[in-house]
Amino acid sequence: MSKKVCVVGSGIIGLGSALRFLRSGHRVTMVSSPSHFMPTSPVSAAFWFPYACSLSLEQEIALAEPTYLFLKECMQSSDTGISLRKGRAYFDETVELAETTTPWWAKLDTNFRHLASTEIPSVLGEDQTVGPIVGGWSFEVPVIQIPTFLTWLQREVVALGGEVKEHRVTSFNEIDDSYDWIVNCTGGWATHLTSDPVLVGFQGTVIELPGEPLGETLLFLEKGKSSNLPTYIVPQGSRTILGGTLKPVTQLGEAWQTGSDGAKQQWVGTDEDVLGIIERCQIVSGKPIPLAPGSSWKSKAGLRPVRSHSPPRIEMDSNSQRMIVHNYGHGGSGVTFFWGSAQAAYDLAQPC
Ligand SMILES: Cc1cc2nc3c(=O)[nH]c(=O)nc-3n(C[C@H](O)[C@H](O)[C@H](O)COP(=O)(O)OP(=O)(O)OC[C@H]3O[C@@H](n4cnc5c(N)ncnc54)[C@H](O)[C@@H]3O)c2cc1C
Repeated sequence: MSKKVCVVGSGIIGLGSALRFLRSGHRVTMVSSPSHFMPTSPVSAAFWFPYACSLSLEQEIALAEPTYLFLKECMQSSDTGISLRKGRAYFDETVELAETTTPWWAKLDTNFRHLASTEIPSVLGEDQTVGPIVGGWSFEVPVIQIPTFLTWLQREVVALGGEVKEHRVTSFNEIDDSYDWIVNCTGGWATHLTSDPVLVGFQGTVIELPGEPLGETLLFLEKGKSSNLPTYIVPQGSRTILGGTLKPVTQLGEAWQTGSDGAKQQWVGTDEDVLGIIERCQIVSGKPIPLAPGSSWKSKAGLRPVRSHSPPRIEMDSNSQRMIVHNYGHGGSGVTFFWGSAQAAYDLAQPC
């Protein structure tokens, strides 16, 4: 029987959840308040790659594999902003050996192989900022032009009868009793609505460089766990995303950009973040990054909804009288996990 569902949050996790419930014939209203709680999803570099997540192998596969298959299915429509890209990941000596062995997703048609030592640019090993590099992977994964994909998902939601409303939810109790299920997709802001001692949040910064993409290949350097300096160059349809940073949320306040009316608009990286990203991307790619003064590049920052040493929270709320399914806390892998998470949230709601 068709149920009434209220999805709180309209980032990638909220949109995926809304679409999943709608596809099974339920009635969905999606509410969000981007002016109070800036969504992280539009800032994402948005390549499919399980990263910085505390999941068991089984959990990771359960979330990432359905998303991979869904993204490949979406690629059949030309307006989703998704394409397959060849990619390379490099590992420095601080990455644990176990993490450099063949990943489970090599069995998907990702053209996975380990890089030969001759394929690793020697310059990476000579610089103290990045390296020395001890190994690497070559692969092919979906890369998503995220503004295009979010718009496409929202169109799908509306086309299936989903309602989209702008509203700040201050408590689940204020949500009308006529809703059978509430799906909480509030990302890094979830603690405004539910208690979660392990939700911390880390700022991530990217630089968006419009125009012809820089090169063909996605490059990713997961610089050791303690240095907080993942580096990536992600060529997309009509832009390149350069990243990144991983900073504890206490440093976020400094990063607002203010509009002409004085209103806060978008988080941006600090000058130090931006210069660091450019420097590291130049080393990783071995090429100068053309960020001319006055050119139309911009920096953006977002809040990775990290749950310290814990997996995303995808569970029924046992403390509430209402049927609340939580679906948040996807850290640095929300785009990689969103469809598997939507399926998991849907499965949890079913028996109720
Ligand atoms: C720089 C950077 C690069 C990244 N790159 C990648 C990548 O390449 N691949 C990958 O898989 N992941 C990546 N991530 C991670 C990914 O972006 C996040 O995991 C994902 O966007 C989280 O999505 P979300 O829907 O949970 O949160 P959000 O997008 O933040 O959405 C939360 C929503 O909830 C709403 N909301 C919150 N509280 C309330 C409330 N009380 N009332 C109403 N509305 C509310 C907000 O307005 C928003 O709509 C990256 C993250 C960053 C910061």
